[in-house]
Amino acid sequence: MQRITCKFGGSSLADAACIRAAMDIIKANPARRFIVPSAPGKRTADDKKITDLLYAWHNMARQGLDAAEPRRIIEERFNGLARDLGVSFDARPCLVEIAERAAMDETPDYMASRGEYLNGRLIAEALGATFIEPAECIRFKANGELDAGTYHALGERLAGDGLFVVPGFYGAMPNGSVKTFSRGGSDVTGAIVARASQSDLYENWTDVSGFRMADPRMVPKAKRIEQITYRELRELSYMGATVLHDEAIFPVREPGIPIHILNTKSPESPGTAIVAQREATTPVCGIAGRDGFVMFNIEKTLMNKEHGFGRKVLSIFEEHGVSWEHMPTGIDTISVIVRDDELHGKADHIIEAIQKHLEPDEVNVTNGLAIIATVGQGMNHHIGVAARLTGALAQAAINLRVIDQGSSEMNIIVGVEKQDLARAVRAIYEAFDDWR
Ligand code: ASP
Repeated sequence: MQRITCKFGGSSLADAACIRAAMDIIKANPARRFIVPSAPGKRTADDKKITDLLYAWHNMARQGLDAAEPRRIIEERFNGLARDLGVSFDARPCLVEIAERAAMDETPDYMASRGEYLNGRLIAEALGATFIEPAECIRFKANGELDAGTYHALGERLAGDGLFVVPGFYGAMPNGSVKTFSRGGSDVTGAIVARASQSDLYENWTDVSGFRMADPRMVPKAKRIEQITYRELRELSYMGATVLHDEAIFPVREPGIPIHILNTKSPESPGTAIVAQREATTPVCGIAGRDGFVMFNIEKTLMNKEHGFGRKVLSIFEEHGVSWEHMPTGIDTISVIVRDDELHGKADHIIEAIQKHLEPDEVNVTNGLAIIATVGQGMNHHIGVAARLTGALAQAAINLRVIDQGSSEMNIIVGVEKQDLARAVRAIYEAFDDWR
């Protein structure tokens, strides 16, 4: 019999009606046996997310402020859910425990995880499912990476018959203390559960019908992506993060478990399938762009003759704890593109270090850069992809600051000024729409 892991996002579990709709989806297919819930999300645009309230509570308690307000809202949300779903589970003892340790806990992890924990308990009771405590079987190593022993430990707990609920977003450190993934991390739990339970499919239920070829806020008519490979999605991760956590593919990529992105509000829509291999029908599969990049430009005559120049440049970024995204080079120039949220005000220190250790002729920084990745495994069979792309940008009178084709020939990265981002994505989309 087929096995399916289903992860439901916070917006799909925001109130009792949503939870019932999710339960109907689960019951509609007996293969859907491993359920991973997020914490309840927003019911309306100006509503509060439970996880945000928990972080706020921790923050207030650490500063010695009275956190009665977030506590009250959380209690009311869970009481209301329990009442509407007709379950007896009572969130209050857990909230008392949170209140007791809120000011003592240095990190917010334990508190932030309680949204998933409480929702998991509620949904397990409503479904008559076995509740699995992630802190007992999802383990991190001391360096924060997932301990591979997790798959076995969790697999054993998921071996029986019936339905299982594993709350998303957290596990435990070697000393047993709760540790969360980064925000949106229930997607990662879903992938871990899919692998540990040897599921044939990982369904990720959210509030959109899969990925679109480009961000619909920039290209309203962007078509849905029917199929995309794990590799293509990695290349599009500037876009993926808003729908799926960009670390969620790692646990399932090795065993080749496909992920389906599906919409709880429209369960019949086919969504997007993320697979190991696919037939490429069009050269371009997706276009992802975002701003918030900074480019360090270093110029030094005869740089190409100096051994170790590139290594020294990168070691400066390494020493400052800044990871880099792209590195376009010329004969006497090297540029290093980084995300500005990586910099934490270190740009001046980095420039000083470059001046001191590399004695360049010139070093400067370009702010306000946007990066656009145009991705598709079919690109490497097609001649003229780059020409079409740059032609489209030229026609839209957009200045191209950087261009870089990945060696896999399945992505072309361009850098444009931040204010040109949406126009550039639109121009590229138009250039490849219906190009086969
Ligand atoms: N509730 C957590 C968050 O808001 C994790 C998740 O929903 O995936 O980030």
